[in-house]
Amino acid sequence: MSTDPKALYQEVILDHNKKPRNYGALDHASHQAEGLNPLCGDHIHLALQLAGDTVAAIAFHGESCAICKASASMMTVAVKGKHRDEAQTLIQEFVDMATGRPDPASGQAVGPHIGRLAVFSGISELPMRVKCAVLPWHTLQSALKTGGTTSTEAENDPMHTPLGDA
Ligand code: ZN
Repeated sequence: MSTDPKALYQEVILDHNKKPRNYGALDHASHQAEGLNPLCGDHIHLALQLAGDTVAAIAFHGESCAICKASASMMTVAVKGKHRDEAQTLIQEFVDMATGRPDPASGQAVGPHIGRLAVFSGISELPMRVKCAVLPWHTLQSALKTGGTTSTEAENDPMHTPLGDA
């Protein structure tokens, strides 16, 4: 391997900032969420359209730094067409990688599904930027959990008490 990981990282970040994938809004979103990272000023909107349990469409837009935008762009590519369970696995693996935790199942530095997202593996050494890289993934998590349609996972927060609007 002659490719310097830092050079590859820079190249990928630049590429996704110039041409972010799946950038914009969705007409028929079934799930959506907003992500905010006040430390940096990142503010993104994420919309998904689930067909059954498959992520049929996904889009994001907002104001964010280069790292957040590249992470969001690559995330949309990675989860599009995937089952929501696969998306959950990727979220976990990405967050573990970005925060410097080895993959719990394999003990490896990165999980088995990371693929090209491994360009972000150096981010764990830059604590100020970890939140930027992880924000889109946390936003996806909350979109999948609380998004528009009813969850089939009835055990989700069974004791949840709605905030009274009285
Ligand atoms: Zn940022």
